[in-house]
Amino acid sequence: MYPDLAGKVAVVTGGSKGLGNAIVHRFAEEGMSVVINYNTDMNGAAQTVYEIEKLGGHAIAIKGGVETEEGNQALLDAALENFGGLDIWVSNAGFETQNHTHEVSLDEWNRQIAVNLTGPFLGAKAALNYWLPNNKPGNIINMSSIHELIPWPTYAAYTTSKGGLSMFNKTLAMEYAESNIRVNAIGPGAMDTPINAKRFEDSSVRQETESMIPMQKIGDPYDVADAAAWLASNQSKYVTGQTLFVDGGITLYEAFDGGKG
Ligand code: NAD
Repeated sequence: MYPDLAGKVAVVTGGSKGLGNAIVHRFAEEGMSVVINYNTDMNGAAQTVYEIEKLGGHAIAIKGGVETEEGNQALLDAALENFGGLDIWVSNAGFETQNHTHEVSLDEWNRQIAVNLTGPFLGAKAALNYWLPNNKPGNIINMSSIHELIPWPTYAAYTTSKGGLSMFNKTLAMEYAESNIRVNAIGPGAMDTPINAKRFEDSSVRQETESMIPMQKIGDPYDVADAAAWLASNQSKYVTGQTLFVDGGITLYEAFDGGKG
């Protein structure tokens, strides 16, 4: 637990399920007020608000696409109107599709760039335009991936969006460091969330993935939520422009284990 987080206000995009939902719950456990953005999963968002309020916490669910300026502005407005401010902005929403690159349609490409990369840009822009004129400190956490580093054939749009997000984070961190605004990313490895549910239904695929992870297991969404809470808190006050990989060691290049290569 991080005592400085109590009473802080956060926006979490894609907060109705998966990693975003774990972050919402973790933030609420810290005593934070949370604006939960969802795109289609109204039940997941409403259920989460219900669970948080039952425990005496504060949350509100707001529908909207993160790929639009209005969608992000609505989240900022909801934070200000309902909770009186904004301290932490988490751009978590994202998705991936698999296809050989020569068969990826322009629309499929554009949608992933729009949600995974333009979304965090628009979220950061909305938050910065509140923090800067009000002279407030700020904290942005963007959900990247191990694939900001590791190429992944047949997922070119996804890897490109996360690679771009990595440079966006670093640029923003440098640009606003003097304004007391920190910008970091989390780079999850393979986590147990709906995005992977179909893939891991096949136990041989699950085992193959686990064999690529030094810690030999798929990650729990709460592992990512713990990292988000630390980045949100003052415990990380001297950290900016970084990607915190939460990946069981997958970015350590398992293929070289035992001196191979
Ligand atoms: P998920 O599919 O469970 O959740 C993604 C969320 O994003 C969903 O709630 C979805 O509705 C939302 N979303 C999608 N498009 C949206 C839009 N246009 N506007 C608003 N919300 C939208 O997936 P997850 O595993 O929880 O992934 C969350 C983030 O973590 C993504 O950015 C993903 O790329 C990243 N990530 C996940 C893993 C993993 O193994 N699960 C690994 C690395 C990175």
